[in-house]
Amino acid sequence: MVAIDGREIEVRFRRHNRARRLIVRLDRKGEAVTVTLPPRASRKEALAFVDRSRTWIAGRLERQPQAIAFAPGSEILLRGTVHVIIHEPGRRGLVGTASQPARILVPGDAAHFKRRLTDWLKREAKRDLLAASDRHARSMRVTFRKLSIRDQASRWGSCSADGSLSYSWRLVLAPPHVLDYVAVHEVAHLKHMNHSMRFWRLVLAHCPHAAEARDWLRRHGASLHRYGV
Ligand SMILES: [Zn+2]
Repeated sequence: MVAIDGREIEVRFRRHNRARRLIVRLDRKGEAVTVTLPPRASRKEALAFVDRSRTWIAGRLERQPQAIAFAPGSEILLRGTVHVIIHEPGRRGLVGTASQPARILVPGDAAHFKRRLTDWLKREAKRDLLAASDRHARSMRVTFRKLSIRDQASRWGSCSADGSLSYSWRLVLAPPHVLDYVAVHEVAHLKHMNHSMRFWRLVLAHCPHAAEARDWLRRHGASLHRYGV
């Protein structure tokens, strides 16, 4: 661990036979740096190198989108709208929303706060994605076997050869037209297991706002991963 700008950063070492020099890399979440060591470099040299790279690491951390915890008072996107998270420890019952200002109300013990909120967001994601996938599957006249919700860093959705769809729950944070586009995209793969012209024609026929949604994901997609970490 090294402390940089008040943040505890984990340091990992990786020896690489073909590395010519020491290399420092910061991971996507800004929680760890990986130091690649050439064969003859010592750990001590590597640590000294991390120390010399402090300014560089601090600069990279600063440019990274700030992580937003699932905590009372935090603001998160839900279906593209900023919602304030409110904890209601005295209330029993279910997580729900309220408007003006947009809020997500989380009842119950503080100990279960984060899990309840995460579970609820995943359920909402599944509901929206199931509805969108069902609707588009009906209009494309295809069927899928099952639908699962995951938290993958690398992709928003996937469609397997056996006809199973899987999606990132974080799509429920994005504006509805973005979630809709990802559903159209994956359901269209049930017809065309590729990104051919015919595939894109089918996507466009069922999702006129595809280009706009892809653009939104390119610009803001990474920021959806900063919530709840
Ligand atoms: Zn695809």
